[in-house]
Amino acid sequence: MKVGIPRALLYYQYYPMWKTFFEELGASVLVSGPTTKATPAAGVERLVAETCLPVKVYCGHVLELTGQVDSVFVPAVRSLEPKVLHCSHFLGLPDLVRAVIPEAPPLLAPDIDLDQKSSEDKYGQPPISDLSFKARRVLYQTIYQLGSHFTRNPLRIKAAAERAWQVHQDYLRLMQTGLTPPEAIARWEGNGTRHASRNTHHASHTIALIGHPYNLYDTYTTHNLVAKLRGLGVKVVTSETATPEELRQGILDLTGGPYWTYEDEMVGAAGHYLRDERVDGFIAVSSFGCGPDSTLLDVVQRATREAGRPFMSLILDEHTGEAGLVTRLEAFVDMLARWKRRR
Ligand code: SF4
Repeated sequence: MKVGIPRALLYYQYYPMWKTFFEELGASVLVSGPTTKATPAAGVERLVAETCLPVKVYCGHVLELTGQVDSVFVPAVRSLEPKVLHCSHFLGLPDLVRAVIPEAPPLLAPDIDLDQKSSEDKYGQPPISDLSFKARRVLYQTIYQLGSHFTRNPLRIKAAAERAWQVHQDYLRLMQTGLTPPEAIARWEGNGTRHASRNTHHASHTIALIGHPYNLYDTYTTHNLVAKLRGLGVKVVTSETATPEELRQGILDLTGGPYWTYEDEMVGAAGHYLRDERVDGFIAVSSFGCGPDSTLLDVVQRATREAGRPFMSLILDEHTGEAGLVTRLEAFVDMLARWKRRR
């Protein structure tokens, strides 16, 4: 079976793990190509205008895979930890895809809901052993149901899941060395040299980029934001370059506890880097029309203001122009230089 994985949304966090799982079970994996101008345009034709840009991009990637694969992996993710919920778009993603892309191949669409009672740890990403008994049982059932599309041998599914989990831990460690998810994926696939622009040791400023991976690393929708900042002599740090414990502490500092799954990436990262005097400024990147982010951004903006640290918000949609973005980045970096001189 050939399984398609859209290069969007959770791809940036879990691609090596998913790919390993499917390949260990004998499937081949095809990931859609990098986003181009045609990708969100294809999604826009199928969705109402108010839908956020990342979901439009996601549908564009599913359309690209349609006709090339036997099935597309579109998980419905409600929760990855107790009492912390994903945005409703993640929960309804398979239904949305089926509704707006009826010609899509059959979907591999496991329901992932680990919001099961009795876990003590409601913060961060607990290792599997920290989940409640019920949550662990739900997780294992989900994995077996997904694996049974490929084999009836439960031991083979278990081995594939364990190998995939190991690969995920390696992937997280790679990112903590300063690689972005696309760079870490390239390194993991043995193609690290394509990304020569990673952080240098001679950067004149350090900026914390605050946002979801799918908002920060899609090179088309962000106009290659990370590379542009590095080109301006900036070292970029993100939630991926911090440890889960540091992000957890960041959330505790700013809000006392998470409600949305992706608070790690917004509030957790901001809280953590506000403690770090080497970080000169903060740029928050979000999508137009995103409900959760509008709340989280408010928290981040208020915290940076109270700490007297430079902050800029970039809100992306399909009309965001490259020239305007570059101008704003250059102005922010100039301002950082003046701010540091004054300080
Ligand atoms: S969190 Fe925001 S940007 Fe992400 S899928 Fe939900 S609405 Fe879209």
